[in-house]
Amino acid sequence: MSKLVIVESPTKTKSLSKYLGSDYEIMASMGHVRDLPESKMGLEISEKGESFEFVPEYKVMKGKDEQVRKLKKAAEKADEIILASDPDREGEAIAWHVEALLSESKKKVAPKFKRIAFHSITKDAIMEALEHPREIDMSLVEAQQARRILDRLVGYKLSPILWKKVRRGLSAGRVQSVAVRLIVEKEREIEKFKPQEYWQIRVVLETNKGEEFVAELAKISDKKAVVDNGKKAGEIVEALEKGNYVVLEVRKSERRVAPHPPFKTSTLQQAAANVLGWSAKRTMNVAQKLYELGNITYHRTDSFNLAPVAIDGVRSFIGNTYGPEYLSKETRFYKSGGKVLAQEAHEAIRPTDFSRSPDRFAGQDALAADQARLYSLIWRRTLGCQMAEAVFDDTKVDIKCGDIRLLAAGVVMKFEGWKKLFGKDKEEQQNLPEMNEGDALERKKVLSEQKFTMPPARFNDASLIKELEKRGIGRPSTYAAIISTIQDRRYVEQKDKKFYVTSIGIAVTDFLVENFPEEMDYEFTAKMEDNLDEIAAGKLKWMTMLGTFWKVFRDKLEKVDKESARVGVPTKSTGQKCPLCGEGEVVIRDGKFGRFLSCNRYPDCKYTAPFIEYLEGVACEKCGKRVVLKKTRTGKDFFGCEDYPNCTWASWRKPQVKGEEKTDVVVEEKGGEE
Ligand SMILES: [Zn+2]
Ligand SMILES: [Zn+2]
Repeated sequence: MSKLVIVESPTKTKSLSKYLGSDYEIMASMGHVRDLPESKMGLEISEKGESFEFVPEYKVMKGKDEQVRKLKKAAEKADEIILASDPDREGEAIAWHVEALLSESKKKVAPKFKRIAFHSITKDAIMEALEHPREIDMSLVEAQQARRILDRLVGYKLSPILWKKVRRGLSAGRVQSVAVRLIVEKEREIEKFKPQEYWQIRVVLETNKGEEFVAELAKISDKKAVVDNGKKAGEIVEALEKGNYVVLEVRKSERRVAPHPPFKTSTLQQAAANVLGWSAKRTMNVAQKLYELGNITYHRTDSFNLAPVAIDGVRSFIGNTYGPEYLSKETRFYKSGGKVLAQEAHEAIRPTDFSRSPDRFAGQDALAADQARLYSLIWRRTLGCQMAEAVFDDTKVDIKCGDIRLLAAGVVMKFEGWKKLFGKDKEEQQNLPEMNEGDALERKKVLSEQKFTMPPARFNDASLIKELEKRGIGRPSTYAAIISTIQDRRYVEQKDKKFYVTSIGIAVTDFLVENFPEEMDYEFTAKMEDNLDEIAAGKLKWMTMLGTFWKVFRDKLEKVDKESARVGVPTKSTGQKCPLCGEGEVVIRDGKFGRFLSCNRYPDCKYTAPFIEYLEGVACEKCGKRVVLKKTRTGKDFFGCEDYPNCTWASWRKPQVKGEEKTDVVVEEKGGEE
């Protein structure tokens, strides 16, 4: 009997072939094989009384004909076809589409189809899956189709309205537009922000043994010290320079710090962004490879769960390698924050074999190096979660100077516990000399420094994923796509890893929020995600969900198309007079292909010029002229000389500005990755 196993990728084919005998033929579908057409909406919508029916028109995808032909040919020889795509909705949908295509075979006796799913590509997991094949789970397939159709409806119906009301060529996405809204609102918070002045006042003190340490102003007359101007600061400094210092109280306490839970998709993406500086997309690509090579469990997951056999493996590895004192007393179990659906619930992302340590994993080429780095994060995080807590001795010393109170804080790590696997944080070691109540201290120096409060931080990959997850927008399978799509469409751009909204992003967001307030609502979007989860769990009919959405959305589309006013994309002024007409002002516009200069009297005045962004405080390393920020055709930032093509100097790395800290230092990995 011949058996045909179908997976998604050649890597997975190769990994599986290690465990399956010669009576199995293994082939790859190369990802999805069928999808909605590229050139039209491909949805037939019919209204039946109060309800709707949606019939998707699936087509073999561009470039997949040859592969489908090969699969069909192999299927004709097979008695049994085993669909072994990834264990989630996308994987289930691939299996379903493949089965649909291969069932068209002209063979007299139709082959038998079986679906198997495994969360790691190891011998045990695959044998186990082969012993328990099942049918395709149509609830999962329907949840995938519902998402696809929803996104298609929004994209196809909303984009023409954006063309008409904002600018040609724009496209809207259901979840992406809501993600851009988050970034627009952050931008507005930052614009509105007014920095507040405050003064940091510290005193360098010395014990009678000659040991120096620093204490910071804490209270004045038993109230929290608020120093918001230079005059006040001066008065306090004067008092501190005259007064005598004595130790009022020494408070010691022990602090225990528990490890992080194991990784799920969102936290892996956040840690890789923080520690390695990676985009979510890069993290998912590397994780996919690690999974397909059999090194880690499936990387699209919402679960913190660890299989009992994995916990045993981790705990014995820790005990044997680091000693029993490094083991947590009890096995730690983590509850998953979100709703985990039964048939999708599986495991956290973990190594499949703990004895494969990251240093033994390191490979030769850049790709393997990436795999080793991500694997190292996963390996340490998984081990860490079953290790003992780190123990710190915290010391707080209250110091009196007249009616002024100062505070000195010290931290000593007593036992590293799980932090053994991570680099040390600077804040974790701050020695204070031994002091006792009543000790007199000598003042060495009073330091006062003017400071200003900082505006809210812009989103980066890590904090945006965190926010999306917190609001219930997006799922393990979608975070990476959301983040790369909003950049591809130029609604936002990234500088120094931080997101900035473009003027197109602002114009489109304002238009959508004004005209589609419900669809742009965070809670509404989260509810749609919940609905998709319910479809996957078989608790909600997909046609019902789609119909409910469509009924409201369709009417709104019509209304907005007829009634809404056109909006302009905002420009940025430069303060320069237009050199062509002499009347208008030169403004920076966001075009389809990036920024350019034009006249604010456009279309009356047709002046345009390229927009050049100079880098302040640096000179070309070759000729000394100014450095300009440029973009490759694919939108990646680089630095070049303003005298190009006469001077060809260029660099990926930001040239160092005098007096500014280097920006390309590799971030040391810390225990706190999120
Ligand atoms: Zn002009
Ligand atoms: Zn130059």
